[in-house]
Amino acid sequence: MFLSDLGKGTLAIAILGAGACSSGATSTSPTSGPAGGSEVPPTTTRLLVPSSTGSAPTAMPAAGELDWERVNLGFVSAYVLARGNRAAIVDTGVAGSAAQIDEALQVVGLTWGEVDHVLLTHMHGDHVGSVGEVLDAASAATGYAGAADVGAIGSPRPLEPVFDGDEVFGLQVIGTPGHTEGHISVLDREAGLLVAGDALNGDDGLITGPNPQFTSDIERANASVKRLAQEQFDTAVFGHGDPVTTGASDLVRALAETL
Ligand SMILES: [Zn+2]
Repeated sequence: MFLSDLGKGTLAIAILGAGACSSGATSTSPTSGPAGGSEVPPTTTRLLVPSSTGSAPTAMPAAGELDWERVNLGFVSAYVLARGNRAAIVDTGVAGSAAQIDEALQVVGLTWGEVDHVLLTHMHGDHVGSVGEVLDAASAATGYAGAADVGAIGSPRPLEPVFDGDEVFGLQVIGTPGHTEGHISVLDREAGLLVAGDALNGDDGLITGPNPQFTSDIERANASVKRLAQEQFDTAVFGHGDPVTTGASDLVRALAETL
């Protein structure tokens, strides 16, 4: 009918949008696809959804404002990220840290049953030490680690390998190899939050590169700092050291220029 004389894209978009809504189109919804059934090759962003379908009605991984809570375990930190009533946990601390992670979940008003994802930045024991306890408690959650580190992590159920460019819970996975080969960082672009694991360290409000003493390939680790310096984020949180909550990517850029 009138589609033929549509010269303006805006109207066309409005019509297409209305069509998608009114038809309840499910073909484009990332939450409705078969979880793990037909993996899209990692040439484009893969949207990883929980393998459990039990929480499907409320599991909107990329929707809603992000809330985050540090689990300060003293020597190392883990993080609880929440959107609405769903959560992801990034890193699990040393063995015996599940109770403190549970406390952080309570601070954001959630419980283990609302945890859909457990992301491990890398294979070191102070980050994966409680993965067994955490995945047992968050029994519906999927665990993830960088593909090159997955094999070195003992887990009660198989971990999903993730790659640079993947997306989990609305978080962009950034491959940051060097500290370990499979090290990943995760970035929430909208919230401006980077969870850097050990790719960076907090140092009294400043940001330093990975600790050479515990880093397997410092050249690659420095290249990963430069990679992170290309991103924009106000807040950066680390495995070690205090979070930086303003101007964090400026500090990473300044650090990268010294490398
Ligand atoms: Zn480490």
